[in-house]
Amino acid sequence: MQEQLPSSIITTLITLIEGVQLKTEVLVLGGGPGGYTAAFRAADLGKQVTLVERYPVLGGVCLNVGCIPSKTLLHVAAVLNEAKEINPAGIGFAEPDIDLEKLRGWKDTISSQLNAGLAALAKQRNITIVKGIGSFVSDTQVLVEDGDDTQTIEFKQAIIAVGSQPVKIPSFPNDDPRLMDSTDALNLQSIPKKLLIIGGGIIGLEMATVYHALGSKITVVEMQDQLIPGCDKDLVRPLMQRIKKQYDNIFLETQVTNIEATQEGLKVSFSGKDSPEAEMFDKVLVAVGRRPNGHLINADKAGVHVDERGFISVDKQQRSNVKHIFAIGDVVGNPMLAHKASHEGKIAAEAVAGMTTEWRALTIPSVAYTDPEVAWMGLTENAAKEQGIAYEKAAFPWAASGRSLSIGRKEGVTKLLSDKQTGRILGAGIVGTNAGELIAEAVLALEMGASVEDLALTVHAHPTLAETLGFSAEMIEGTITDLLIKKR
Ligand code: NAD
Repeated sequence: MQEQLPSSIITTLITLIEGVQLKTEVLVLGGGPGGYTAAFRAADLGKQVTLVERYPVLGGVCLNVGCIPSKTLLHVAAVLNEAKEINPAGIGFAEPDIDLEKLRGWKDTISSQLNAGLAALAKQRNITIVKGIGSFVSDTQVLVEDGDDTQTIEFKQAIIAVGSQPVKIPSFPNDDPRLMDSTDALNLQSIPKKLLIIGGGIIGLEMATVYHALGSKITVVEMQDQLIPGCDKDLVRPLMQRIKKQYDNIFLETQVTNIEATQEGLKVSFSGKDSPEAEMFDKVLVAVGRRPNGHLINADKAGVHVDERGFISVDKQQRSNVKHIFAIGDVVGNPMLAHKASHEGKIAAEAVAGMTTEWRALTIPSVAYTDPEVAWMGLTENAAKEQGIAYEKAAFPWAASGRSLSIGRKEGVTKLLSDKQTGRILGAGIVGTNAGELIAEAVLALEMGASVEDLALTVHAHPTLAETLGFSAEMIEGTITDLLIKKR
């Protein structure tokens, strides 16, 4: 008679018998903007692609708990603010009636439309989508776990696109629901009376914009000496001046030393230059950066090197130290931006398909969708100074833009940096309404090797905010008539 096998052995055997349940040419790990772009491009190039994603929908952080929901809420904030600010024009609205549940639903509808679009695009390309958490078991196999279900996928080439997660501060009461990360903040469980935002970077300031418009009293704590530290100070100043009047407090060069969870709220202690007395807040948002997910995928089992911080280094084709394994997006380094990830996704997919494509972009634009928006690209003035680069500079004030005044705003600035010798555009920064849209012209100018003269002689429609880039070029050229610039 045959011996009965213990159940643990049976389970192991079933897994072994099932063995490799799926074989694929290209495995993409992670379905965010980097991952789905890589998968789609690889499929378009004739590869058989399997995409592994832990959530039931594609789109990753950006589409589900990042860029898209935050922009949806920022639009709502802009409408609320505009309704208030149009009062001097003789138009008055009643106080807004905010239905939080409906607002959440509205936000989710926007993301769902995009989720559905991605699912359809994946299907049209015959991409196999496997739901679950993938980790390497070797340099040709990934194990995918979804609850109790597991399956092994064998691949010829892989693209790692596993993204990043918010940094947590271990000493804070992280289990307390009143302590939020960006995902919690976007969930809009409630509108706190008093909200503290730790970190004056892009996430912190975008969420401050949303919650302020919805009625919260905002305090921001930033450890550096300016908000959005990567950006030139003169571009952040108009934003700072506006929000300083709107928010309860903005503390620079200050840190939070302790958060005590009490029944009444979160009692926060500070240290640093502007540090105030300990203060009680209803909720606290921690937005002090994101860390890469490189350590979560057993990359070592595939021989892929992950540094102590969790980043995977890659070459210009996004290839890791293992020849047939590529990596893209947040997990390969800063800036952690969706448009960098998707650009890298295309490069990796093309490299996988045997093309010689490599990273050649000259700049990755940054945008803070605050009010006013702040956008910059190419060389910053700080970097030009640090690197001793000889540059010409112009900063056109939007107070002289008819279009800006007609929308009731005059704090904007469009700054242009050009090479002192050749006149080539080196960098640009814009602060003002729609700066995030306007920066695209500067990015193209840089990529095309355009000069200040090219920008100045480009006919910009009038009246537009886009004109301000042409005006700043005219300032450097000395041909501007919309301002009177004293001859040097
Ligand atoms: P960030 O790096 O942009 O900003 C974090 C800020 O927190 C910095 O200003 C930093 O000086 C400050 N900080 C760090 N530790 C602190 C501490 N203990 N106390 C006080 N301040 C502290 O990070 P983020 O805003 O969390 O965003 C994370 C990533 O997501 C970034 O790479 C960002 O570019 C990206 N993102 C981009 C967009 C966009 O493109 N619009 C939107 C959201 C997020």
